[in-house]
This record gives sequence, structure tokens and C-alpha cells, in this order.
Amino acid sequence: MRELFDEALAPRTTFGLGGRARRLLELEHEHEVASAVRELRRARTPWVVLGGGSNVLVADEGFAGCVVQPLLRGIARRAASGEPESVEIWAAAGEPWSALVADCVAEGLAGLECLGGIPGWVGATPIQNVGAYGQQVSDTLTRIRVYDAATDCIDELPASACALRYRHSLFKDAAPGRYVILGVGFRLSRKTAARPTHGELRARLEAAGEATPTPRVIHEAVLSLRRAKGMVLDAHDPETRSAGSFFLNPQLPAAEAEAVLQRAAAEDPRVGRPTLPHQRLDDGRIKLAAAWLIEQAGFGKGFGGTAVGVSRKHALAIVHRGGGSARAVLELATQIRRGVHARFGVWLDPEPLLLGFGEHPWVV
Ligand SMILES: Cc1cc2nc3c(=O)[nH]c(=O)nc-3n(C[C@H](O)[C@H](O)[C@H](O)COP(=O)(O)OP(=O)(O)OC[C@H]3O[C@@H](n4cnc5c(N)ncnc54)[C@H](O)[C@@H]3O)c2cc1C
Repeated sequence: MRELFDEALAPRTTFGLGGRARRLLELEHEHEVASAVRELRRARTPWVVLGGGSNVLVADEGFAGCVVQPLLRGIARRAASGEPESVEIWAAAGEPWSALVADCVAEGLAGLECLGGIPGWVGATPIQNVGAYGQQVSDTLTRIRVYDAATDCIDELPASACALRYRHSLFKDAAPGRYVILGVGFRLSRKTAARPTHGELRARLEAAGEATPTPRVIHEAVLSLRRAKGMVLDAHDPETRSAGSFFLNPQLPAAEAEAVLQRAAAEDPRVGRPTLPHQRLDDGRIKLAAAWLIEQAGFGKGFGGTAVGVSRKHALAIVHRGGGSARAVLELATQIRRGVHARFGVWLDPEPLLLGFGEHPWVV
């Protein structure tokens, strides 16, 4: 365990912004996580878990509490009982995610190939049910090992108990601040990968003449699509200094969504062209494309200043090109939220954790 005081958080995040944490604990073992959180709770110290910092915006004032960073490492494989075609991969929370995906793909294992190139660590993947290109971790997640601060016990939760859905989970919604994820299990397949369902990815594979693509081919196609959008970390590309998508795609009750769709169609001057992309969900709600709403509300790619702006490659990402501030990111995000609401009547919610901003982060 390493204990640090007044520690700069910006270098620990992909945005590269924000102030210091009053205290930061780097923890390498499960028992260290348990005793650290127990002590923090006893002392009533505010605390938060930080992984690879790729889905967090830290306030310029920093965080007046303790950051807990689980650096647990280790990967194990075992045959899934009674299923010769399946393998269970067990990975500790501090393992880098995209390296794990690349290793699985290299072994010919299918199930995570569309999730390559996503930054961050394994332990964060269940928090927002990480997903991309038609795949999400809930498709293959089996169990999640946690330290439960409420019971002061280490426990294993089946994935089915974790309320995993689009960018949401038990950990994020029903019980924030209760669990520290210590490790995660996935069931992967040695069979051919399922045919990708995502339109852009399918088109890319079809154009390359790949009728039954292997996990490796799919993984490479995904990385190439992601690179073009600045969605793979690249130290030489300032358009990648972000938290990925800054806003969630809104999921609205059908009647509300229909009203937005009608408004969008009425305002769309491109008669006969497809309008606001949307998807009907199993629970009856409708998911709307936030990127479309943002662009149509006047915040297209490249909008904003030079230090902080909408990515030139991806309308859903706010990027920090250097010399910016968390305040500037939040001001731009507030402007976009207001603009989208004024035009379409929808409030966009942020995807990253806004750390140290207090209960009402939006700039008024
Ligand atoms: C360029 C770029 C592209 C991205 N593309 C995608 C994408 O395609 N799909 C997608 O879903 N996301 C994407 N993201 C967002 C991000 O990479 C993922 O959400 C990732 O899983 C976050 O991992 P992390 O370790 O960096 O978590 P952090 O940013 O450190 O933390 C994120 C949240 O998880 C919590 N947390 C982290 N670790 C633990 C733990 N062990 N136990 C309990 N809570 C924990 C934190 O408290 C915080 O609330 C992208 C980000 C970037 C910068």
C-alpha cells in the first residue's frame, strides 16, 4: 500500500485536468482495500474509487477526501465446467482493459472483440456496463468480486444481480459508494465470433469481404473505426484527451421520445433524409442518439475554443487540447445541455463521474 497526501489527480485521468486529492491510497491487495475503506467509513471521510481515470472529470479545486485506487493485478483462465467451447477469464480490477481484450482475441476467444481500445481498467467495466459497436460487458460477464462496505465483507455477485443495462448498473445507480470491485469473470467462447450487429462495423467488414470474421478481424476493424474518431488513446493526438463520450444517449419513455422525434423531423431541413437515429428498447423506452441532438443544436465537431472544445472527430466527446480547465469543460457541457434542451426539450446527462463539483455541477 502507498499513501499519498495532496496528490495531483490530473495525471491520473485521461482528461489531464483537475486539482489534488487530500489523500490517495494505492492498494495492491484485497485485504488492503477492505481495511482502508473500513477506516475511511469509521472516520466519516468522503472517499471515492479511481481506476484508470478515463471516465472522470476532476474539479479544478480537487477532491477534499480520499481517493482509493485498487491496483490489484492478475489474470486466470479456466475451462467452464461442462462447456468445452467456453473459457472463463478471471481478471483483477487493476488490469488494463484493452490489453486484456487484445490477449483474449489473440487466443481466438470470442465475446470481447468489439470492446478493444476502450481505455481504463477491468474493475470499472461493470460500473457503466461498458459497451461499444453492439457489444457490452454484460453479454459475457459471469461474476463480480466486491468489497461490500455496507457489510464489511468480500463477496461475489452473479452478473444477473447487478442490474446491468445501457451505461448503468447496481454499482452506479442503486448503491453508489457501497462496493469496490476487486475482480471480474467473463465467459468467452472458442467458437467463431457472433456476426457483429452494429451497422458501421458490419459495413466495414462487408467492404473488406469478411463474411465470417474471426474475433481478430473484428477487433482490428473496431480499432480502426475508433482511431478515426479519436476514441483510442494516443499521446500524439490531443483529440483523444477526453473521457470518451461526455453525454449519455437519452433513454426516454415512448411518448416523450416520440415528441422529440416529431420535433426533430419538423426541424430537419433535409427532407427525405433519415432523421434522429433512435432505437426501441425491450422495456418500451426509446434511446435517442445524443451526438445527432448535439450536432443539430449547433454544436458540431470542432465547436468551442482551442483548449477545450467538442472533438473534431466525434461530436459526443469534449476534449482538452492543453492549457484548459475543468471549469471550461463544464461551461461547454452546460452550454451544450442548454442548447439541446432549448431545441429538442431533452436534458442530456453526463457519462463521466464529475468529482469534486458538489451536488449541482452545472454552471448556471
Ligand atoms: C478515448 C475514450 C474512449 C472511450 N470509449 C468508451 C466506449 O467505447 N465505451 C464505454 O463504455 N466507455 C468508453 N470510455 C469511458 C471509459 O473508458 C470506461 O468507462 C472505462 O471503463 C472507465 O475505466 P477506468 O478504470 O478509467 O475508470 P475511472 O474513470 O477511474 O472510473 C469510472 C467510474 O468507475 C468507478 N470505479 C472505477 N474502478 C472501480 C472499482 N474497482 N470499483 C468500484 N468503482 C470503480 C469510479 O468511481 C467512477 O465512478 C472511453 C473513454 C475514453 C477516454
